[in-house]
Amino acid sequence: MKIQLLPSTFNGNGQATLDQRLTCYLIDDCVAVDAGSVAIALSDTQRQNVRDIIVTHLHMDHIASLPIFIDDLFASLKEPVRVHATQIVIDALERDVFNWNVYPRFSELTNQHGPVMKYMPITEGKEFQVAHLRVTATTVNHIVPTVGLVVSDSKTSVAFSSDTAETEEFWDVINRLPKLDAVLIEASFPNSMAKLAHVTRHFTPAALKTELQKLKHEGADILAVHLKPTYRATLVQELAELGINKLQVMEPGSCYTW
Ligand SMILES: [Zn+2]
Ligand SMILES: [Zn+2]
Repeated sequence: MKIQLLPSTFNGNGQATLDQRLTCYLIDDCVAVDAGSVAIALSDTQRQNVRDIIVTHLHMDHIASLPIFIDDLFASLKEPVRVHATQIVIDALERDVFNWNVYPRFSELTNQHGPVMKYMPITEGKEFQVAHLRVTATTVNHIVPTVGLVVSDSKTSVAFSSDTAETEEFWDVINRLPKLDAVLIEASFPNSMAKLAHVTRHFTPAALKTELQKLKHEGADILAVHLKPTYRATLVQELAELGINKLQVMEPGSCYTW
């Protein structure tokens, strides 16, 4: 399984930087987890292959370019873009984003080949299929309804925490797996901002260290993600100081394979 954290910020020469403002992971060049930068950082080939997008929650950094992605592809889509999300997120996308005001309601529109966007409701705790992947979503502890994901193919399992503070069910699902290859887990704010992290339901490195005691798979790679760009240098240092074997910061643009 190949996973790429799509970049979202580019320097004056057009090169991706390490600052991560939007969240979007690409699995095997065809399935997106969240859609922050899906319209701005895919290669042409990837853009032709991505037709499944799993949306973990409604926050703007996770959906920012979803409408633009569908808009760009509108005339050429031969099958709809499938948006996999819990019903509460689907309802909010329809009410607050694709509402004919912020953007057209693509779920009601067709091109010459048929529908251009289709919602695929997901149920927490119930495995579902997305392309060649098996996926289980679990509720995590964020300020709005949010799911973490466990994604498996025939050989590999990778977990995505999405945005969360301390949580239980996510780890229960992970620890029941026979094998876990990697967990992508958020570390949003430095230790000095623990109060804000608590209020907005995010981790600091110190809180993450406590949380990782729940992980039973000792061999799994741990990739820290969702580092707020303003505090990136501090976060990288504080994460290194945790001294956790297998913990590294995931780099935008790079591909990771398990
Ligand atoms: Zn969030
Ligand atoms: Zn976020």
